[in-house]
Amino acid sequence: MLESSLLADLRAVVGEQALLTGERVRECATDVQGHPPGAAALLRPRSTAEVSQILRLCHARAQPVVPHGGRTNLVEGTASSASEIILSLERMSRIERVDEAGRTMRVEAGAILQRVQEEAERHDLMFPLDLGARGSCTIGGNISTNAGGVRVVRFGMMRNLVLGLEAVLADGTVLNSLNRMLKNNAGYDLKQLFIGTEGTLGIVTRADLRLVPRPRSVATAFVACADFAALVRLYAHLDACLGGQLSAFEALWPEFYAITTSERTGHASVLPHDHGMYGLVETLGSDPGSDPQRLEQGLEQALEAGILADAVVAKSESERRAIWEPREDVWQVQEQYGLTFNFDVSLAIEEMAAYLARLRRDVAARFPHGRTFAFGHIADGNLHVIVAPGAAAAEASEPAEEVRDAVERIVYEPLRAIGGSISAEHGIGLERRAHLAVSRTPEEIATMRALKAALDPKRILNRGKVIES
Ligand SMILES: Cc1cc2nc3c(=O)[nH]c(=O)nc-3n(C[C@H](O)[C@H](O)[C@H](O)COP(=O)(O)OP(=O)(O)OC[C@H]3O[C@@H](n4cnc5c(N)ncnc54)[C@H](O)[C@@H]3O)c2cc1C
Repeated sequence: MLESSLLADLRAVVGEQALLTGERVRECATDVQGHPPGAAALLRPRSTAEVSQILRLCHARAQPVVPHGGRTNLVEGTASSASEIILSLERMSRIERVDEAGRTMRVEAGAILQRVQEEAERHDLMFPLDLGARGSCTIGGNISTNAGGVRVVRFGMMRNLVLGLEAVLADGTVLNSLNRMLKNNAGYDLKQLFIGTEGTLGIVTRADLRLVPRPRSVATAFVACADFAALVRLYAHLDACLGGQLSAFEALWPEFYAITTSERTGHASVLPHDHGMYGLVETLGSDPGSDPQRLEQGLEQALEAGILADAVVAKSESERRAIWEPREDVWQVQEQYGLTFNFDVSLAIEEMAAYLARLRRDVAARFPHGRTFAFGHIADGNLHVIVAPGAAAAEASEPAEEVRDAVERIVYEPLRAIGGSISAEHGIGLERRAHLAVSRTPEEIATMRALKAALDPKRILNRGKVIES
């Protein structure tokens, strides 16, 4: 139960309209996967000063707080319990300035990614981070999860795109690490404490983002290869011959391509279903006259060399969308198979084929009707795996928790021996916390705890997420 005197103090800070309680919290704070919030109150501050006052009050009473952005995370990172208060950044969504010459943009943390992309475009620039949740996720959430997405191969993860930021510490201290310069080695780079730490060390309130020149050309192709090894060779070939223009290189294993282009999805299959492996290739360049031909030439060479089996190059924006839509419609597996478990692992490309083969074998052995779907940003070593244990498991022949444990063990344990990661880009949240030791040493986890204790001694920020507190 929340103290009523604390609620009254918080109401005085944000105003009556910005403190939600009861059913309104559920309506406004359910996450993208449908998990309802446990928290009984939600605050919607309008400024860094209000965030600071909120945290000062909560710190004094050791009141736990859960930061919310767009709630599109896939790891229960915004989950809350009855004893917690949600702090939503949704009303802090201003784009404060764009510096065209310096190619930077200053935004509040609640700014939606797509709006930031559009604003950059208005200035003939581009903010390169891009992911399927672009219309709902926020810059604060992207920073806190160190989001990746489909252009990491060229522009890096969110960490590479943040020049500086402002964060409010657990005790309400405002840490101004805003910075518009590419080079700044004046002491510790404190912004790194808040990038990828999932709101456990501070609340991000503003950020300076790095922009790049707006591309003048986009060329997109959907390709088919005989097998995974050929797709990897295609990646190396295209990366070498496209002069740095390769911006996305996605892999789709046949089961994933088949389900996301099946009749009921409404998505067209641009290539037949009988190939061993599929890929999605995109280049961003500066010359609409010659760039698409460059990609076509690269593909032709690959065809002649026997690396490539088939390819389709988009001739219009609608053809480009038709290529991307099945790749981004990852919910199809859940819609068609019911109970599914989603993973986001990372491993060296050379390990991928053997890892997936073992995964499929272990899933089939444990769940006779089970299915494994895979796709991912393979150039980044990032595999997304969806395991559908099948009707028998879903119909409660065994408890759901046992099914989940078994699936997680099958997916995570082999990563230990090959130095893989249980989270490439989605983070740890609550969902993956129990498996952190698969990818992090005891010394690393102890250092994470020491940082948490130093910055948030009362453990009020996103308590229990990432590491057990
Ligand atoms: C369809 C779909 C596709 C996706 N594709 C990708 C992808 O390709 N790559 C990828 O990396 N992710 C992907 N995601 C996951 C998700 O979109 C990202 O993790 C995104 O960065 C989360 O942003 P958000 O604003 O929704 O954050 P939220 O979900 O609200 O929060 C995420 C975490 O950050 C914390 N947090 C939020 N805002 C702040 C803040 N201002 N200060 C401190 N902590 C904060 C929260 O407490 C939580 O722990 C996808 C999700 C969906 C639904």
